[in-house]
Amino acid sequence: MPSGSPFNTTQNIFTDRDVFDIEGFQPTELIERDDQINEYAAALEPVLNGWKPNNIFIYGKTGTGKTATTQYMLDWLQKDVTEHNENHEQRIDLSVVYLNCEALTSSYQIAVELLNELRDENRQVSTRGHAPNDIYNWLFEELDSRGGVVLIVLDEVDNVGEDDTVLYKLARPEIENANLGLIGISNDFSFRDDLSAKVKDSLCEKEILFPAYESAELREILSQRAEKGLHETAYTNGPIALSAAYAAQDKGSARQAIDILREAGDIARREDADELTEDHVEAAKGIVERGRVSEMIGSLSPHGTYALHALAIAEQHDETPIRTRGLYEIYSVVCSQHAADPLSDRALRDHLSEIDLIGLAAVNKKNIGRAGGKYKQYELDVKTECVIEAFQRTDGVDVSEVDP
Ligand code: ADP
Ligand code: MG
Repeated sequence: MPSGSPFNTTQNIFTDRDVFDIEGFQPTELIERDDQINEYAAALEPVLNGWKPNNIFIYGKTGTGKTATTQYMLDWLQKDVTEHNENHEQRIDLSVVYLNCEALTSSYQIAVELLNELRDENRQVSTRGHAPNDIYNWLFEELDSRGGVVLIVLDEVDNVGEDDTVLYKLARPEIENANLGLIGISNDFSFRDDLSAKVKDSLCEKEILFPAYESAELREILSQRAEKGLHETAYTNGPIALSAAYAAQDKGSARQAIDILREAGDIARREDADELTEDHVEAAKGIVERGRVSEMIGSLSPHGTYALHALAIAEQHDETPIRTRGLYEIYSVVCSQHAADPLSDRALRDHLSEIDLIGLAAVNKKNIGRAGGKYKQYELDVKTECVIEAFQRTDGVDVSEVDP
């Protein structure tokens, strides 16, 4: 047993580690998002006259600043509304309801959650036992009695699944007293195309694309954090640039860049180093990538993991991009290893779309000729080793032993 406290609180690296908290820290200035901010502002401006804003659809890959920029816009909007109300007789009543739909996988669940956000504590409804129509009617009643302008933000709305009723209802609400604006945010590019036509028209009045960040932009984002959260003597441009370059090479995600730098800081701290080095960044990159992959795998259903497993094997045998038929054979072998019956190839395709959605795989649609034949091809979108290691860690299965 060591004597004395096991904690080491000397801080050579961080002045404020919370600055590297992805959700917890809101930057006061956003780097390189002026175009998106201007478009966003134009779409929301009617609110400052008490009018209905445009419905807005925000899309771009994870870590491209969609949530941070939305938060930034809403903060400013609320501030400007308060200022307006101090200086004008005609008040603007603005309510903002922000909902992250990550864990809400149906229109019904989103509608219930929204209703509960709008209602006070003693009038909450449970997620079971109500007819969807009742929920929508109550939701409209609630919005109507609120009046003014109500902005509803549905972040990560691509989790809603096939049935987009809630978007249809909110895009054309049956209410008289309130002006409703809807903001939908999606990590998934194909989500918009898969919306039913009537939803697409009304939700996507304004569309704002958030492109992936380039290395130079990520460097700026990281420098902004480093200035606020690291000791001045603890870093130089080298490790910052390397973290940015790694994240840019991969997905161009600010989330990933910040995670790498924070992890590098943690490693340096554990080593009692005075300064961040490129070796720390190198080690941090591996940890972040593995953590990300494990987390994504953890969110899959059993057959989702078998499908991914099959894809990793195909990848190891250089058979990717692979079509469903070929993959199905490997998947069947994986299933038998787990003493599970393989699902239909249609179900396998659904699982593959799910894997695509969370960013572990990439799907390409191929069209052959004018006859309109179509097929899909799949490949991993993360490092094969990371997936294989994650499987070895979680269920001790060595995928390299399976021969397709
Ligand atoms: P998304 O919602 O698109 O997945 P986030 O808005 O959550 O991405 O961004 C991920 C992290 O990167 C957050 O901590 C956010 O504050 C930061 N970030 C993203 N874009 C910028 C930017 N342009 N300037 C400063 N920080 C940013
Ligand atoms: Mg987000």
